[in-house]
Amino acid sequence: MHIDARKLNNKSIIEGDICIVGAGTAGISIALEWMNSPYKVILLEGGGFEYDDQVQDLNGGKTTGQKYFPLKSSRLRYFGGTTGHWAGMCSPLDHVDFRKRDWVPHSGWPIVKEDLDPFYARAHKTLGLGPYEYSFDYWRKEIPNLNPFPLDDKVVWNKMWQFSTARFGNLYRETILKARNIHLYTYANVVNLEASEGVNSIREAQTRDHSGKTHTVRAKHFILACGAIQNARMLLASNKQAPAGLGNQNDVVGRYFMEHLEVSSAELWLTKPFPTDLYNWSYGVTRASAELAITEETQEQFKILNGTASFAPLVFAKHVKQRMEVWQNEDPRESAKNMFAEWDRAGAEAEKEGTGSIQRAYMLNTRIEQAPNPNSRVTLGSEKDGLGVPRASLNWEFTPLDKRSIRKIYELLGQQMGIAGLGRVKLLEFLRDENNYTFPDDTNGGWHHMGTTRMSEDPKKGVVDANCQVHGIQNLHVAGSGCFTTSGAPNPTLTLVSLSIRLSDYVMGKM
Ligand SMILES: Cc1cc2nc3c(=O)[nH]c(=O)nc-3n(C[C@H](O)[C@H](O)[C@H](O)COP(=O)(O)OP(=O)(O)OC[C@H]3O[C@@H](n4cnc5c(N)ncnc54)[C@H](O)[C@@H]3O)c2cc1C
Repeated sequence: MHIDARKLNNKSIIEGDICIVGAGTAGISIALEWMNSPYKVILLEGGGFEYDDQVQDLNGGKTTGQKYFPLKSSRLRYFGGTTGHWAGMCSPLDHVDFRKRDWVPHSGWPIVKEDLDPFYARAHKTLGLGPYEYSFDYWRKEIPNLNPFPLDDKVVWNKMWQFSTARFGNLYRETILKARNIHLYTYANVVNLEASEGVNSIREAQTRDHSGKTHTVRAKHFILACGAIQNARMLLASNKQAPAGLGNQNDVVGRYFMEHLEVSSAELWLTKPFPTDLYNWSYGVTRASAELAITEETQEQFKILNGTASFAPLVFAKHVKQRMEVWQNEDPRESAKNMFAEWDRAGAEAEKEGTGSIQRAYMLNTRIEQAPNPNSRVTLGSEKDGLGVPRASLNWEFTPLDKRSIRKIYELLGQQMGIAGLGRVKLLEFLRDENNYTFPDDTNGGWHHMGTTRMSEDPKKGVVDANCQVHGIQNLHVAGSGCFTTSGAPNPTLTLVSLSIRLSDYVMGKM
């Protein structure tokens, strides 16, 4: 059932069993789990079914520290959320990602990989992926011509990926609209959560639109599913009963913001051509491909973060501008257009240049977790958005461990390529001085926002507990990658959908 909240009488009261705030990736994944249940689900979406610049502008905010994408264009604010322009790359976290690692400060989830495995399998269905299988041996049988580099598997392994083409706004629109117990309200931007006097439960949520209409939503349970930056912002801005913001009694909300560093790092020159089908990916075509990853034992030995290396032909990579440079337009549609145009331009340059020995040369691109850092954080800015809510402000920072880990990964890959007689690895300039911990301005993130409402059993170290319930507030939960304690190397959406389905089961259990 769909209701445009702009058409309701001002000050309407909306009531249900659960209220999900945000009909994006996490919110829709949860709503689907409640379909045909005996419960009335209120699904509040800030935007409509199409891009609307006035609503999108609510995402705008300042960034400081390391150069970042404009906040306005790094996520989408309408039904379906940021799957509206995601790339669909999926791979689960590794066992090591959940561990408390003595060399990674603030690491250690309160759950282990096995706790998430059944939910990863369910998330595969939601995201329209293949079987929940990520071993190279499985995919080698499925797809012919997958040739791995013959490297020492005690040091390097092939981390497999699968690819989703799901755009939730198209894929699930009809299903959600037809579900009798799901009441989707569009143009229902939540601007405040009202807590009980003791701040141990949420009484109601308030929505507002640009005409000034406000509505009140009451439910037994509330789930924030607005994306990691926005969830933190909403907790901080809901500060009537708790001056520091909801769940922020220990000043953790918004801290530990993490991205995946996606950085061109080294050139690989093979001594002779090697078939790299296993390491290639083409949107909508490839079912599974691999990136080179460092084993858990080797990470522990060298005290480095978890990361992978992907391949791009050097003849293309040396011509292309980094996406941090070309994705700087505030309008996400323009930024996306600029990025695709840049890829076309670099492709044409590469073609002009021809091939020759360069066929054997690749750019190795790192994808790596960022060490959790309390100074990398989302706060409230001084400026307000069009609905009167303080805008988000992001300070993005790195630690020396981030850079040391990237350098070490390529030293290891270089050694392994040499030992196997496959070729040589040449570090890019910015990695050569081991006492220099800075990153170039065009260092990419993946538009992956994580850690701002991190999970920990200790309320002093985390915002949510192992079930994604906000510490101390019994009916308030957070869905999404903000709950990640550490981020692992792979893109976050498969894991955040898995966590959301797990949260959904937990809340249903409470009903
Ligand atoms: C260009 C690009 C490429 C990407 N590629 C990949 C990839 O290949 N693999 C991968 O894993 N990830 C990728 N991502 C990241 C991925 O899109 C996100 O991880 C994921 O969409 C986040 O899901 P979410 O539900 O937390 O947030 P979203 O999907 O952004 O959903 C949040 C929803 O909340 C709504 N909302 C916000 N505020 C309010 C409010 N106050 N009231 C009501 N509703 C509100 C929004 O309108 C939106 O619908 C990519 C992102 C971008 C930008």
